[in-house]
Amino acid sequence: MELRIGVIGTGAIGTEHIERIANKLSGAKVTVVTDVDKPRAEKAAAVCGARIEKDGTGVIASSDVDAVMVTNWGPAHAKSILGSIAAGKMVFCEKPMTTTGADAKKIVDAEIAKGKKFTQVGFMRRYDKGYLQMKEILSSGKTGKPLMIHCAHRNVAKGTEYNTPMSVNDTAIHEIDVLHWLVGDQYVSAQVLFPKQTSLTHKDLRDPQIMILTTESGILIEIEVFVNCQFGYDIKCEVVCERASVELPLASFPSVKQDAKYYTALETDWKYRFIDSYDVEIQDWINNASKGIVKGPSAWDGYLAAVTADALVKAQGSGKIESIATGPCPDFYSC
Ligand code: NAD
Repeated sequence: MELRIGVIGTGAIGTEHIERIANKLSGAKVTVVTDVDKPRAEKAAAVCGARIEKDGTGVIASSDVDAVMVTNWGPAHAKSILGSIAAGKMVFCEKPMTTTGADAKKIVDAEIAKGKKFTQVGFMRRYDKGYLQMKEILSSGKTGKPLMIHCAHRNVAKGTEYNTPMSVNDTAIHEIDVLHWLVGDQYVSAQVLFPKQTSLTHKDLRDPQIMILTTESGILIEIEVFVNCQFGYDIKCEVVCERASVELPLASFPSVKQDAKYYTALETDWKYRFIDSYDVEIQDWINNASKGIVKGPSAWDGYLAAVTADALVKAQGSGKIESIATGPCPDFYSC
């Protein structure tokens, strides 16, 4: 039987996921959608033949919804996830799971109280072929121990609604999740440096930023976040180890030689850079949610990311090195 999904938030990624469930993936259909912007909900409903509910609470309570997909704005995620858990429905939530560690803790506590995992977080880089290949090489034992990680997360441009804390909660949150998973270590401290500012930003956004994280074993991680770089959507990750350096492959485009030039294209949109990993991620969620289990990034992963993000946002304001204290992983999550 097909998993009947209710979608809360039919903006950019909500519509992308609805289209992939309708046209590419198997085992599920979207039966109900909602958005505070009604015309957006109507447009998305037309793609998949879903009906429209007036709000997220209505979606979660619907008898024709088995599982919930939360793709609205970050600060609204916690309410829909907690509502889904209370209703006993499996839930997929786009990143960030929550925009504060305190809200993330409520979700972890709610799952532990119910004695069941319900939440998968949209950290799709864990499904990306390039990161999976890196993890395999790093786990082989041939590279020696990781010592440093150099990353960049660059977007072409952001609008004026995007502000300094969003560089952490909306952007670097991907690196926060994928890096500790990649090297099997936990973060202990956070710091943010502000280089010379681009003239192409606005008053509420410091751009670019350098975020520095250290791990329990002493790995030093440096993430450049530059969201108005103009030239492309550019994701870089290099892990420097004792005997090797392991680097994320670039998105694959042909090399072109023409007019005395030798060049390759760059991606400009997040939708296409990780398109395959979204497909694998959502299919995996459908398969597992249909059985009532979570195998992908869990609420505990969402919590770790949220606490780390809290420390980075604090460091943006203080200019100091801030500590990251997540506490031990509960047995319930078997980390
Ligand atoms: P968006 O602004 O295009 O869409 C958000 C939608 O949510 C809007 O249509 C808005 O009207 C609606 N909305 C807001 N509050 C609501 C509420 N309480 N109930 C119902 N609808 C509500 O944004 P987006 O780019 O689609 O991002 C949505 C989420 O997905 C964000 O958390 C973002 O960080 C995440 N995202 C993840 C990735 C990824 O690579 N995994 C990529 C893009 C966005």
